[in-house]
Amino acid sequence: MDRKEKILELIKEGYNSVKALSQYFGVSLMTIYRDVRELEKEGKLIRKHGEIKLKTLEDTKEGKEEKNACAYCTKLVDKRLEFIYHLKNGKIRACCAHCGLLLYGNIKEDQVEACMTWDFISGNPINCYSAWYVIGSSAVPCCSPSAIAFSSKEHAENFAKGFGGVVVDFEKGVEVIKELMKRGQRVDIKIEP
Ligand SMILES: [Zn+2]
Ligand SMILES: [Zn+2]
Repeated sequence: MDRKEKILELIKEGYNSVKALSQYFGVSLMTIYRDVRELEKEGKLIRKHGEIKLKTLEDTKEGKEEKNACAYCTKLVDKRLEFIYHLKNGKIRACCAHCGLLLYGNIKEDQVEACMTWDFISGNPINCYSAWYVIGSSAVPCCSPSAIAFSSKEHAENFAKGFGGVVVDFEKGVEVIKELMKRGQRVDIKIEP
C-alpha cells in the first residue's frame, strides 16, 4: 500500500491533521502536506478549518445544493419551477415564479439580458416577461402565496377557474406579489458566474 492510500485509511480511523499524519509516518510535515494536496486534487478528501476529512457523497451533494439554491429564499430549486434571470455578469436563479417576481425589485433592469421559466402545463421554456401568472391560487407547488407561470393567458385563466387566484402579466405580477408579501426589505442576491 502506498502512503497516500494509507493516509486515506488513517483519516478514516480519525487522524485529521497533517501533523498527526507526519508523526505517524515519521516524515516531514511538507511531505504529508504534498500528499494531502494531491489527494485533495483527486477529490478524495477535503480540508476545512485545518482539519482533513474524507470527501463523502454528502460533501458533493452539499456543494450542488448550494449552487441550486434560490437567490431569494435559499430553498433548493426544482427544475420544473425555476425562474432564471440572465444578467450580463451571470445569472440569478429563483425556486419559482413567486421568488422570481419578488427578486425583480432587487435587480437592475438594464442588467437583465433575458429571463426564463417553464410553462406549468407543457414544461416548455417561456420568456418570463411574456408569460402569464396565476397568483395566490390554492395550488402551492413551492412558495406561498404561489405564483405559477403559463405561456398562454387562456391556460392561466382555466387554471385559476379550478384553483383560484388572479391572472396577471409579468409587470402586474411583480406588483401583486410584493403587495401580498408586504416585506419591502432588500435581500442579498447571489449571482452565479
Ligand atoms: Zn425561492
Ligand atoms: Zn419558491
